[in-house]
Amino acid sequence: MEDSRKHVIIAGGGITGLTAAFFLQEEAQRTGKQITFTLIEGSSRLGGKIETYEKDGFVIERGPDSYLARKSIMTELIEKVGLKDDIVPNNTGQAYILHENKLHPIPEGAVMGIPTKLMPFVTTELFSWPGKIRAGADLVMPKRKNVNDDISVGHFFKRRLGTEAVERLIEPLLSGIYAGDIDKISLKATFPQFHETEKKSRSLILGMKKLQPSSSKTHKKAAQFRTLKHGLSSFIEALAKSLPQEQVWLEKKVVSLEKGENGKLHAELNDGSIVSGDAVILTTPYAITKTLLPDRVLPDAFHETTPTSVATVAMVFPKKSINLQHEGTGFVVARNEDYTITACTWTDRKWPHTAPEDKVLIRCYVGRADEQDIVFEEDEVILNKVLADLKKSMGISVKPEFYLVSRLVQSMPQYDVGHKEKVAELRERLEKQLPGVHVAGAPYDGVGLPDCIASAKMMVNSIVDKS
Ligand code: FAD
Repeated sequence: MEDSRKHVIIAGGGITGLTAAFFLQEEAQRTGKQITFTLIEGSSRLGGKIETYEKDGFVIERGPDSYLARKSIMTELIEKVGLKDDIVPNNTGQAYILHENKLHPIPEGAVMGIPTKLMPFVTTELFSWPGKIRAGADLVMPKRKNVNDDISVGHFFKRRLGTEAVERLIEPLLSGIYAGDIDKISLKATFPQFHETEKKSRSLILGMKKLQPSSSKTHKKAAQFRTLKHGLSSFIEALAKSLPQEQVWLEKKVVSLEKGENGKLHAELNDGSIVSGDAVILTTPYAITKTLLPDRVLPDAFHETTPTSVATVAMVFPKKSINLQHEGTGFVVARNEDYTITACTWTDRKWPHTAPEDKVLIRCYVGRADEQDIVFEEDEVILNKVLADLKKSMGISVKPEFYLVSRLVQSMPQYDVGHKEKVAELRERLEKQLPGVHVAGAPYDGVGLPDCIASAKMMVNSIVDKS
């Protein structure tokens, strides 16, 4: 007997694909609609960029390490898959900017680098006096004439606060999230809150100050991030467990996609087999997705900038062998400094569950948008450069007793100016020319893990509504 259920093919088993499968199953149960799915993952494991190394009392994240707590969709899902008791908030503490070989505390009241308190900015040694005065010009500068238009993050902040504030504070903080060239990244797609503030308020500083919750007007710093006791891979495992195993296929790649005369969508796999369905959700990286779609639906110059590659180096030291002189959770490196690392997290301080008490766990990042070669060096070459930087910045002169290099090649999609409009254009063209085909995940609706989950949910809702 023919299966009358609506069949959805999901390409990619990262957080987006897995949560799409979860939501499809949940919605089918909730609505009683006859919907099923097959998730097809090209590699031998689920999780995509998420991968935890858990051994000997260490919990080391090779990719993402946490998520923004205020984006509650992820917490809700973690609770649904039974991991509520494993949720861990970050330890809050001072973070620093490395500038001219010195760690400068990020001035209190800086929201993504935008000052919302006067005194810490006046007294910090991070900026020169001309730099401080230039940043203060934001208070009187008129908004852009075409304030509704998109603009690059770099141009936006340089105009409002000046080059020094951008290079020494804003760029290092923002590139931690997008690892891109901030003069190309879209403000609307990456930091819509600043775009909205620009529209509503004469000054960015005053506008951001107004938006601060009252708790940050007092001195109390709330934990903004969450992770899981056994690492983010435990979330992937719990999601996978909630799905029927036979509907999750590993080591199978989608290599082409076609619409048949009967309206069905046919996905060809790398073993030559064909899977047919009524809808498809492509959660693969855009470089793959665009090979699966006809040119006529692809917007011009969409994702023209190649995603940035980064590597992380996790290092374990015996606590007694190093003396961390600064309180706090880590630092980011200002632009134009003579350093290979872009950031350094004192992981066991930010996340005490990640290392035994007598060990120090430090995680450094390498790979700037304009400096990609380092990511492809041998592990030892990367380690030695990182250690040289740690010696200069923190005085660490011992070798780690254990280290783990993780490369994430072309892993950070770059949202160029006009990104949002191009995403809308792609989805509109798909709807008209290839109905049933959907795109979701990091290349479109935000790179944060909760954004990927929200993107999956949006596509599932649209499929379920039409069923
Ligand atoms: P992916 O995880 O890339 O999944 C896509 C999947 O598709 C992969 O499993 C791949 O194998 C599979 N695939 C590829 N081709 C095919 C094919 N032809 N057929 C079938 N399957 C295929 N976000 C945060 O919120 N917090 C963080 O702390 C954080 N840190 C990060 C640190 C790093 C170093 C990086 C790179 C990213 C970080 N991010 C963070 C961002 C976040 O990790 C990603 O945006 C998110 O994991 C992307 O998930 P995804 O499912 O969309 O894509």
